[in-house]
Amino acid sequence: MPADTGPSCPRCGYDLIGVVESWKDSCPLKGVCSECGLEFPWSNVLSPLRSVPRWLIEHSRRRALETFVPTVAWSLRPARFWSAVRIEHPIHARTLVVYAVSLVALAHLVVFLATAINFRYTKVAFMGWGLRPPTGWSLYRATFEAAAWPYSLDDPSYYDFPPFAGLWPWALVCLTILTPIAHMILSDTFGLARVRFEHLLRAWAYSMVVVPVTAAVFAVGCSIPDASLATMRWRWLFFLGGAIWLVRWWWVVSHRYLRLPQAGLATIAVFSISALGSAAILSLLELIGFQGRA
Ligand SMILES: [Zn+2]
Repeated sequence: MPADTGPSCPRCGYDLIGVVESWKDSCPLKGVCSECGLEFPWSNVLSPLRSVPRWLIEHSRRRALETFVPTVAWSLRPARFWSAVRIEHPIHARTLVVYAVSLVALAHLVVFLATAINFRYTKVAFMGWGLRPPTGWSLYRATFEAAAWPYSLDDPSYYDFPPFAGLWPWALVCLTILTPIAHMILSDTFGLARVRFEHLLRAWAYSMVVVPVTAAVFAVGCSIPDASLATMRWRWLFFLGGAIWLVRWWWVVSHRYLRLPQAGLATIAVFSISALGSAAILSLLELIGFQGRA
């Protein structure tokens, strides 16, 4: 939590103490930051904790585990989420980083379980042709080895099931990571309103929910017998769906949370940069023959 150093602009951090000190016998209800142009009600700036949502993991006095699920559930609906979470609410950077890392761990857990269950109950059952299926301890070991890191940049083979290999899952991960960086580049070079780094950290950390949720939806689609083949064939659609959700997420962030002028144009510019960046990184990884798995 930032040290209490007096009132400052919620968006760019510009010190507003001089404005407050200029008030003599009355104070205005609304203010405008002379640095970045943000309009704000003074009540929100002077008492930022007033409207903090109780379910938000950053601010709850309850244990983090109790607010993790409500935070995930709310963040799946960007418009509602960013109506409740406001730019004036103080930012807890450490909680955000821990939350984002937990979502990555959750995504890996989903992939691990989906791959392990498939290996244990489907693949091993079909190992009759010339291969001796593993049993006992070696079965656990083989299952763990198959599921521990099933990612690869190469197109998935018939044996990768559910197929988390290939470019699409990696593209979604790259896009998720590069978007706040693109935002930072744009605000520095193209004169978008100055935005404190912590706001981008907050928007990024909560956006990471797209990774475990896309992985889970895809894994479930692959496990439904009637839908399994179609899911395999159209698997890029799942990750494209994740990317579209991400574009909407950042549009709502620009428009409703950061209250940027021309939020639509800003979002298009930000995603053009992050999509190009993702394509460049993935091409480079392919070029150097990155395997992604042992
Ligand atoms: Zn400002």
